[in-house]
Amino acid sequence: MHYSGTIWRPPYEAYSLLIQVTAGCTHHSCKFCTLYEDLPFKFRLSPLAEVKEDLAEAKGYYSKVPRIFFTGANPFVLSTDKLRTLAKMVREYFPTYETIGCFARITDITPKSIGELKELRVLGYDGITIGVETGDDEALTFMNKGFGSKDVFEQCKKLEEAGIRYNFFYLTGIYGAGRGEKGAKKTAELFNRLHPQIIESSMLTIYKTSELYQEIQKGNWKEESEIEKLVELKTLIENLTVPTRIVTDGASNLIQVRGNLPKEKDKLIKHLEHQITNADESLLREYRVNLKHL
Ligand code: SF4
Repeated sequence: MHYSGTIWRPPYEAYSLLIQVTAGCTHHSCKFCTLYEDLPFKFRLSPLAEVKEDLAEAKGYYSKVPRIFFTGANPFVLSTDKLRTLAKMVREYFPTYETIGCFARITDITPKSIGELKELRVLGYDGITIGVETGDDEALTFMNKGFGSKDVFEQCKKLEEAGIRYNFFYLTGIYGAGRGEKGAKKTAELFNRLHPQIIESSMLTIYKTSELYQEIQKGNWKEESEIEKLVELKTLIENLTVPTRIVTDGASNLIQVRGNLPKEKDKLIKHLEHQITNADESLLREYRVNLKHL
């Protein structure tokens, strides 16, 4: 299989067939991000011959694959034409496949019309994962995400109209010291107007190679304490009214939360309250600074 560098996929895509159609990220500018820094290029579209070879190799292992996950930070940036070609290629090798997932940036959806998105849905694109991180414009701007909360709302509504389901990545700690609760409330306001199937929360872990680290050195930004991050996550859950599933499966979360909202909301909040009451900042901090890799 042609896998370049570290392959990132959401924890809930563990049983999907991972096919590399892109590598790296077209944006590559979020201040906190150090993903894909092991690649010698910013973004690369895999040659179709490579994708074919990988599908053929996978066919040798599995006769049927219900779900495929296209790897790379944002394969959804590809034109509808390219995404159509890739889906047809998947069909050649796995005629009974049901859906194709991938990471997407909000800005990848912008140029696609509702008609194009509907066609992509028919081709199987569904359950895409968007690294929204937050609904707070101040944090989105500071971190250079390249879109605002209005864009998130408008583009996700387009997905909904086209019948493409989506999941969000949320980044606990993105607001900076003293802003966690306020930012979580703003995010809940946005998410409550949308329909993310899953909200996967990671906790901000800052590496020295990130631009955010430089901002901290210059005194432009201060990290939330580990306890503030937990309070922020609790605030987000408290304020979410949309039916969704919230999970914190990645390595950045020492304290795990996993449940369906609204059914398990009280249970999750009680769990977090207990963790916050008994938390030892220095122990949580030790975990954070010793986390070698996300
Ligand atoms: S967070 Fe996502 S969009 Fe931003 S630079 Fe990293 S991979 Fe690209």
